[in-house]
Amino acid sequence: MNNNYFHSYLHKQMPVMMILSLVPGFAYVFLSWMHGIPLRAVGWYGVIVVTSIWGSRVYKEYRDDELSGPRLEAWYQRLSLFYYITFFLWLVIFVLFIFEKQYNLHYIAIFTEIGAAVVASTLLVPDKKLFIPSIIMLMLPLVIYFLFLDEWYGYVLSAFSATLTWVLIYSANSSHKLLMQTNFQANHDFLTGLKNRHYFINYLQKLMLTLHEYKTYSFLLLIDLDHFKTINDSLGHEVGDSLLQKVADRIQDNLFDGALLARLGGDEFVIAGPEYTTKDEPAEVAERLANRILLSLKDSYVVDLQHLYISASIGVSLVVDQANDANRLIKEADIAMYEAKANGRNGVLIFDEDMAQRVELKLEIERMLHFSLDMNEIYLLYQPQVNKNNHLVGVEVLVRWKNERLGDIFPDVFIPIAEHTGFIIELGRYIMENAFRTLSVWEQQGVNINQFSINVSIRQFFYHDFVDDVRLLCEEYLSPKMREKIVFEVTESIVAADVDKVIGLMEQIKALGIRLSMDDFGTGYSSLSYLKLLPVDEIKIDRSFVSEINSTASDRVMVGSILNLAREFNLSVVAEGVETAEQFEFLKECNCDVFQGFYFSKPLTESELVDYIS
Ligand code: C2E
Ligand code: MG
Ligand code: MG
Repeated sequence: MNNNYFHSYLHKQMPVMMILSLVPGFAYVFLSWMHGIPLRAVGWYGVIVVTSIWGSRVYKEYRDDELSGPRLEAWYQRLSLFYYITFFLWLVIFVLFIFEKQYNLHYIAIFTEIGAAVVASTLLVPDKKLFIPSIIMLMLPLVIYFLFLDEWYGYVLSAFSATLTWVLIYSANSSHKLLMQTNFQANHDFLTGLKNRHYFINYLQKLMLTLHEYKTYSFLLLIDLDHFKTINDSLGHEVGDSLLQKVADRIQDNLFDGALLARLGGDEFVIAGPEYTTKDEPAEVAERLANRILLSLKDSYVVDLQHLYISASIGVSLVVDQANDANRLIKEADIAMYEAKANGRNGVLIFDEDMAQRVELKLEIERMLHFSLDMNEIYLLYQPQVNKNNHLVGVEVLVRWKNERLGDIFPDVFIPIAEHTGFIIELGRYIMENAFRTLSVWEQQGVNINQFSINVSIRQFFYHDFVDDVRLLCEEYLSPKMREKIVFEVTESIVAADVDKVIGLMEQIKALGIRLSMDDFGTGYSSLSYLKLLPVDEIKIDRSFVSEINSTASDRVMVGSILNLAREFNLSVVAEGVETAEQFEFLKECNCDVFQGFYFSKPLTESELVDYIS
């Protein structure tokens, strides 16, 4: 039996048992002394006292939160022994006094024997291995004793005693079942039947103690379903519930001996590994197990005649140094799991110190980013875009952040974080306002630029006030003629949202005179059919294709076909990341319209750009 609740219950009954032995036991000493036969009782009482002293030591040894699994088992054996010995001693006193008929002490012996059996049937309820042998040990001699009286009432009493034995065992067993049932409910998840969070945390704490004590190693796997909320929200909680049950079954099928699976809540499951003697083994086993689970979860599920698909992200933490505690282990697995989600989901990541640092840095960036606008740390650069003759036709506005503590942080790093926290709304508006202002200043100064491209991130694009904000800023800074120079660059992932909504928003933007460009074309969803649907004016070939032009034939073919396609749809094409003359030549041959890249110029400050033009 390996259960904290029962351990502590039986632990609490120990003093009760001791008092019930020492006080009535003393009555025997007194009575036998009165009748001049004190020796047996005194000797017996001595043993009771010694047993109780030992019992009180066993009692004190118990520390639920400090004993590791094997130690707890050993302690529980001592506790069991204490109960066995104590009840055995009550059998002994019965045998010693049952034949003392001349002093009527046999009545006392019979009564205390029955009393002891009743005590066993109540105090020892949590463990069948304790109460069944104890009750039988105490009651059987009584049954036999009455039988051997060789009187009619002896037979009746013997039968009654046997019945009482059965009643005691029966009632103890019923209470036992009830206790087990409540205990089961307290430790299990109602929906999946798996162990619940409460049980798991206790289990993990015990496991950590064991690992610590025996210098062994293990792992923790945190499994979180991807986009489960969408299923719950769109198909209803009943479908979500059945899906969770099926997922639980599939995970369970992958488990092996010694590993424990629990549902932490929602769509989060956790597995604690068994003990390993080497440091490397847990990492290997955990990764293999995680990949197997991912694979098995991917197959379709049939719920309510619908085919559903779901993936999961898994974070793994390893017990590598023994100083780890349970909470930290879970937190580390959690960090790894979130990293796995951030890496595009449906994957496994093992926590390590690098990851901890990355996460720490990310949090730091998140905190600092919040103050970046007030601290005037955000500024804009402008990267020239040229035509075939290497003449400037436009610029792309690129944001920069220079923080006092963190140094220069690139938009690839902080834009996703700003998107995540929602700061992008504020930041995006700031960028747009400054870009518009720059454009209007340049216009006044006679700096002639045909195209002024501004990146718009998805969250910003879908923000409910976005179109109104743009309209207001246009009215404030730009004449209708100038608005035609503005191009908003959005990425292909925009089509992951409701396409009708995207088209609606795009139409509103276009109504303001602003053009639209599909940035990083070819890297995301890049469904060509969307190109036809969306009212975009331009595509930007991602620099990953451009950079491979010289080395891979397939990328040359890709770039060539994107350009053909664009002509088909009447779109202009900007090639990004042009770094060499060969790339420029090839793109020119393919009839690309506009070129942008370090070959022509790096992103420049306002004044550098003005110099570049003149
Ligand atoms: P993007 O819109 O595709 O921007 C082009 C990126 O490629 C820029 O990086 C630019 O500096 C870089 N680049 C240009 N020419 C070359 C080249 O020849 N070789 C190489 N290796 N790189 C080149 P940057 O400025 O770090 O921006 C990265 C991304 O961050 C942008 O990709 C864009 O998605 C985002 N971003 C930048 N500024 C903004 C902004 O103001 N708002 C939003 N929402 N996102 C922005
Ligand atoms: Mg861009
Ligand atoms: Mg791009």
